[in-house]
Amino acid sequence: MEVKGGYVGNLLRVNLNDKTYHAEHLDEALLNLFLGGRGVAAKIYFEEIAPEVRPLDEANKLIFMSGPLTGTIVPGSTKFQCATKSPETGIYLCSNSGGDFGPQLKFAGYDGLIIEGRASKPVYLSINDDKVKVEDATKLWGKTTGKVYKILKEKTGYSQAGIMCVGPAAEGKVAFSCIKVDGRSFGRGGAGAVMASKNLKAIVVKGQGRLNYANLAELKKRIKPREVRKACQSLADYGRAIYTESINELGCYPVRNFQTAVFSGVDKIDARSMKENFFVKNQACFKCPVACLKVCRLKTGRFEGWTVAPEYETIWALGAQCGVSDFNAILSANLLCDEYGMDTISTGNIIGFAMELYERGMITREDTGGLKLSFGSPEAVLGAIELIANRKKVGEVLARGFRGIAAEVPGSERYMMQVKGMPFAAYDPRGFYGMGLTYGTSSRGACHNVGGWSIRAELLSGDYDRFALKGKGKLIKSIQDTRAYLDCLGICTVVRRALGFSDKPDPTILNLVTGLDFTDKLMEIGERIYNLERVILTREGIRRKDDMLPPRIMKEKLPEGPAKGHVLTKEMYEVELDEYYEARRWSKEGIPTQDKLEALSLQDIR
Ligand code: SF4
Repeated sequence: MEVKGGYVGNLLRVNLNDKTYHAEHLDEALLNLFLGGRGVAAKIYFEEIAPEVRPLDEANKLIFMSGPLTGTIVPGSTKFQCATKSPETGIYLCSNSGGDFGPQLKFAGYDGLIIEGRASKPVYLSINDDKVKVEDATKLWGKTTGKVYKILKEKTGYSQAGIMCVGPAAEGKVAFSCIKVDGRSFGRGGAGAVMASKNLKAIVVKGQGRLNYANLAELKKRIKPREVRKACQSLADYGRAIYTESINELGCYPVRNFQTAVFSGVDKIDARSMKENFFVKNQACFKCPVACLKVCRLKTGRFEGWTVAPEYETIWALGAQCGVSDFNAILSANLLCDEYGMDTISTGNIIGFAMELYERGMITREDTGGLKLSFGSPEAVLGAIELIANRKKVGEVLARGFRGIAAEVPGSERYMMQVKGMPFAAYDPRGFYGMGLTYGTSSRGACHNVGGWSIRAELLSGDYDRFALKGKGKLIKSIQDTRAYLDCLGICTVVRRALGFSDKPDPTILNLVTGLDFTDKLMEIGERIYNLERVILTREGIRRKDDMLPPRIMKEKLPEGPAKGHVLTKEMYEVELDEYYEARRWSKEGIPTQDKLEALSLQDIR
């Protein structure tokens, strides 16, 4: 069947060396196998970024790719993906973001955008339908993301223009600097530093085109925004901060660098407290009826009166991970990270780690330039963000990420909560054993999303004991495959169940948009993508040893709360990992077998 809608059919390739660009046809065979977004971006990465290319080399590329639903009338159709080699992990990175950029890129006539080369001086890219210009950005260099966004928005004169930009942290090569995208982010893994290494400060896109639909009349009957909102009511009411209280009650909310998993100050930072004391309005991404973003206003301090919409993970990383329960300080730290352009999860995780080193005497006050880097201190968190973003004193080392810190601070590795150099997120796997596999086997290092967020299934399905290993290998595989195909569609994961996209997908909406038939194909596509990503990772040197968890998770029992006494020992985890590799039909070393690759039509990708 031929493509009738959803996709535009073109990729825009820009070379910053000589400021040239051209459009390329998007091969339909590629869409059948890899669907769009993360899948197509991974395939291009496989073809074009060799294992020996280093993250900040000119030869690294930024591959942005939307999905067939991005920019359509389907609720939550805001998402698009980025693939590149990560400065934080040194390996393949996939990252996803919302914002207006993905939809606008499609309206301009492109499903994806590939940036290659390096400009000789700071530039920004302007895409206005088929007019593409590389503009001088000398005056934007050094500016914070908020300022850049404001300047370019005014200059463009189009309120719906999509804008992505990097901040001073990326210019300073901070390993976990992000790309800000219309208030959202390509957060994890340091894509911001890759963009800045190309002397590319920002990209602006403005599109006037319309998307085609295979069957618009039937699609309109199927899409019921009110029902989508109703299905996501608690998130619509409280945002993702709704998880803070429940994860803490379950005893797996990491505190002070995962030294415990129950936070005594939780009532000051949970969703109810946020709503009562700081909330000002709801905000929605492109075409989303849920509007789960909760805009909060700062009450005191340097940023008094400013607003920011904090996520659950951010509140944890800049709060409990550092022992801080002052919500105004958490909002300030969130704002500071956004303005400098740093991933809040990695930043908070690394500051919590540095606080533990400080309390153990492995970092001194001389190293911090006089800053008392103690747990529970808002000033310490804000001061550490400044040190990292500006690469001053100990911030110079912390800015390199865990891989860089390990080389500089002997003995510090045992306190690092990371896998493959990617810091953990806001869940302690000693409270949910499935999350151990999630962090261990995620395609981009310890990530709760790409790796397969298992807490819902471990808790609510009734099929699993959260403190047992049985069945977790198959479970995590299934969640990872589901997430992989979802990351190709171009819709937000919050709304996906209400639209039929689960581990037993109903692809009706996708079929009505594209005119293709994805019945019984989506889970296989997800599995194909996960295997392709693993082939990329093994090509880059990743093996079983790299899927291991940090010593704290394997050796130290949780000291209190509902998960008290639990630990995921190496012996236990090895059993879990074996079950997972078997479910995937990978070798004992974690390498996809030829049989498996052939079954997934990946026989040619070695
Ligand atoms: S559910 Fe929330 S995060 Fe997802 S698209 Fe809607 S507003 Fe954005």
